[in-house]
Amino acid sequence: MNGIDEKLQPILAEVIRRNAGETEFHQAVHEVLESLGRVVAKHPQFLDQALIERICEPERQIIFRIPWVDDNGQVQINRGFRVQFNSALGPYKGGMRFHPSVNVGIIKFLGFEQTFKNALTGMPIGGGKGGSDFDPKGRTDAEVMRFCQSLMTELHRHLGEQTDVPAGDIGVGGREIGFMFGQFKRLTNRYEAGVFTGKALAHGGSRARTEATGYGNTYFVQAMLQTKGTDFEGKKVAVSGSGNVAIYTIEKVSSFGGKVVACSDSSGFVVDRDGIDLDLLKEIKDVRRERISEYAKLKGNGVHFISSENGSVWDVPCDVAMPSATQNELSGKDALSLVKNGVMAVGEGANMPSTPEAIKIFKDAGVLFGPGKAANAGGVATSALEMQQNASRDSWTFEQTESRLCEIMRGIHDVCHQTAEEYGAPGDYVLGANIAGFIRVAEAMRTLGVI
Ligand code: NDP
Repeated sequence: MNGIDEKLQPILAEVIRRNAGETEFHQAVHEVLESLGRVVAKHPQFLDQALIERICEPERQIIFRIPWVDDNGQVQINRGFRVQFNSALGPYKGGMRFHPSVNVGIIKFLGFEQTFKNALTGMPIGGGKGGSDFDPKGRTDAEVMRFCQSLMTELHRHLGEQTDVPAGDIGVGGREIGFMFGQFKRLTNRYEAGVFTGKALAHGGSRARTEATGYGNTYFVQAMLQTKGTDFEGKKVAVSGSGNVAIYTIEKVSSFGGKVVACSDSSGFVVDRDGIDLDLLKEIKDVRRERISEYAKLKGNGVHFISSENGSVWDVPCDVAMPSATQNELSGKDALSLVKNGVMAVGEGANMPSTPEAIKIFKDAGVLFGPGKAANAGGVATSALEMQQNASRDSWTFEQTESRLCEIMRGIHDVCHQTAEEYGAPGDYVLGANIAGFIRVAEAMRTLGVI
């Protein structure tokens, strides 16, 4: 009926009933259950003891009020979330997102995905996610600081380097992590560096963490291309977003000889046939915190900004597409347009950026498709390396850290590839990632008793 094995249908029905209206969470669970029919056929023990039902239910969900005072002396109220999804493999680990669209369903879908992603890295980290409906756009540094301090006044009691370790995500970068870690330190009177990742180097941050998600996705796509005897050299690439993941995807793709011809933000996209000028993009986004339309204004020379009402970044002809903005940003229509223009590979830098219709279109067209939970796992893997450095009070070089990242991404690619083959669907990285991630979490849970 919906691509899910009949033994697993009641599990999805219960998830939908218990989490009414949380459509992104339903979508994420649906996608994983779709892959698990082949697993339970081979290993029926995974149906015992309501194991899959338990995997779909977060261990703990925390929702709280965040009151803060803006620069005009007005009291503002936001809502904070932390979903501690699964700790079978290690402390909860996953970023914080600040965006007006955040609600419990979004955080739950992200925490669910994170659980399998973290398992795929092979590192001892469980899954969690958090955030707030706070919109940092247009807020001063002082406002962002007061907001982060208020958020942490509640959240600190649920965190700890052995308990739950947040990091960044949309709207949360080095500035926000610094404010949150600073308040955590003040409230607990402990310099517990391992309680946050994505920190500045001065506070025990890891080299290459900022770059890790974008670099990691590029390594993953490179590995997929190599299975077809090709690589990035001379390929045209379209990237969506212009934040952390997008910027370091552009950097790595260029270093591999590819040319990124388009990138975007929520207001629209720019096309630069000479290849996106990364220094200019970093200046606009990281320093001035301005919109992508500024890029076209400053670059001139035939570079156009097209607003989102007038088109999509996925209409730009490319060989490789790397969605790096947000969930469900790449629709079935976008996928058709990419396929028509000859796309050969898609690597998801964002979490769940392609809709189910888009994924089906890519699959039917034989496009190499790297799902987010595998392709963007380089960020969290490097966070785990940051935790390792903090635990040993050590600090590695950029080269050392990047070479571990590269090794880990190769490992994730290979395990997805091999698992897909083992389960009779060669080349299906969605199936490979879902099954390999699930088996690691499920095995860990089984041996812990009914928890
Ligand atoms: P940033 O906040 O640095 O950048 C987000 C980018 O995506 C911005 O260009 C933003 O545009 C755009 N964007 C956000 N929401 C929307 C929307 N609703 N519609 C269109 N564009 C949008 O976030 P990151 O780069 O850190 O994260 C991007 C994606 O990567 C997210 O899905 C995140 O979950 C995922 N990810 C991030 C990791 C990390 O290490 N940072 C790790 C793994 C996954 P605008 O400024 O206009 O809002």
